Amino acid sequence: MKHQDLHIYNSLTKSKEKFTPIHEGAIGMYVCGPTVYSNVHLGNCRTFLSFDLVFRYLKHLGYKVRYVRNITDAGHLENDGESGDDPILKKARLEQLEPMEVVQKYTVDFHTVMAKFNALPPSIEPTATGHIYEQIAIIEKIIAEGFAYQKNGSVYFDVMKFNETNNYGILSGRNLEDMISNTRELAAQTDKKNPQDFALWKKAEPQHIMRWPSPWSEGFPGWHLECTAMSTKYLGNNFDIHGGGMDLKFPHHECEIAQAEACNHTSPVNYWMHTNMLTLNGKKMSKSTGNFILPNDMFTGENDVLSKPFSPTVIKFFMYQAHYGSILDFSSEALEASEKGYNRLMDAHRVLDEAPTSAKSSIDIESWRNSCYEAMNDDFNSPILIAHLFESVKFVNALNEGKETISKKDLEIFKKTMDDFLFDVLGLQDNASEGSQDSEKLSAAIELLIQLRNQARADKDFAMSDKIRDELAAKGIQLKDGKDGTTFSLSSL
Ligand code: AMP
Ligand code: ZN
Repeated sequence: MKHQDLHIYNSLTKSKEKFTPIHEGAIGMYVCGPTVYSNVHLGNCRTFLSFDLVFRYLKHLGYKVRYVRNITDAGHLENDGESGDDPILKKARLEQLEPMEVVQKYTVDFHTVMAKFNALPPSIEPTATGHIYEQIAIIEKIIAEGFAYQKNGSVYFDVMKFNETNNYGILSGRNLEDMISNTRELAAQTDKKNPQDFALWKKAEPQHIMRWPSPWSEGFPGWHLECTAMSTKYLGNNFDIHGGGMDLKFPHHECEIAQAEACNHTSPVNYWMHTNMLTLNGKKMSKSTGNFILPNDMFTGENDVLSKPFSPTVIKFFMYQAHYGSILDFSSEALEASEKGYNRLMDAHRVLDEAPTSAKSSIDIESWRNSCYEAMNDDFNSPILIAHLFESVKFVNALNEGKETISKKDLEIFKKTMDDFLFDVLGLQDNASEGSQDSEKLSAAIELLIQLRNQARADKDFAMSDKIRDELAAKGIQLKDGKDGTTFSLSSL
């Protein structure tokens, strides 16, 4: 295979590097999972789907990959994990549920959404609450190494002390002196020696019901600690790849490095990978600002952003048309264009079986296949890969029109390459071959009915316009009249 050519952009060194795994043929990869207090939004999905692509491609290259992605079910407080409410407890109070019911509900939602996107499950999916023992052991070690102190039942990481011998800021490029001069946190409000210190263990307030005994107090672990505990437990003190969204670089991943170095005297991760943000109306999709869209509302079309429903595989295809390291803005127009492109590709794939063969090929299929690998080997460049796959549409048309020729053997390579990249690597699904409706054709038919209804209204034939709306509604297709015209949604897809 071509794995010796794989290059990855490493956020730690800020350069594209040749990828060499620690153990030949096997790769350890850790990705920060969701905090399960609400439904995952499409921005979260972009990050997880980016790493699904990485996981799939590494496996496709023949590596044995152990992919660990955690579930954060404790410790992630509202302000970068450091202070404020625990959102899981907050939601439990609001919905009158046990905190673990909240965790279960949104973990199930996350799994359901990822399955709809045809993402592979990770090899191990550990939870923070299932690893309290390991987290306490790490805190004890960090205290013994002299890099943490306790105050009033809580334990804090001593960033200043750590920075004397190590580099706090190595990943984010931040400088500790600058951070100190830019903070205005009042010393009196906290037990910390320094505002940059972060919690390893927090003593629980009486109302904080998610609590565990520890040598310091009944309390709960700091957010950053769980990822250090679970990544090193399952992948070792030094492993290959650690991923997450760019917004986790600081403080979360910076703190993970500090904890691991303080505890194990080695840099934990060889390649740090960070995905860029999905934006909506030019702003980061985010739960806290309300600027987000839920996957299920896209599949049904029940939202104010899109003109119609889109299938999970089309949304995923849309995402992969941008490189994971670029910002991607979400819009109805861009999705419609992706849907058309996706349908063209799937059509080309479907008619490949019937393509005529001849004694010799005029198409250099090997070099085309290689260019697909080259794209993915260049830091998982899916938009370039997709551009190469689009060339297949041209090939297929030219073959059918007799303008190009292909041998039987090359046609097999052509088909194998399409299958490999469309389904194995990109993890797309062929909507039409699965018997679900061909969304583009359905949309065109509904658009026609919308036009007929508009005509009926213009003619003051309200019996007809109401009939169109009501009968569509009875079939589960809702028309919505807005200032930009009429859109539709489906109650189930
Ligand atoms: P959280 O549940 O908030 O910890 O987020 C889960 C993952 O989604 C993290 O890796 C975040 O970096 C990522 N994420 C959050 N918002 C976005 C976004 N708008 N675009 C891409 N990834 C995001
Ligand atoms: Zn993490």
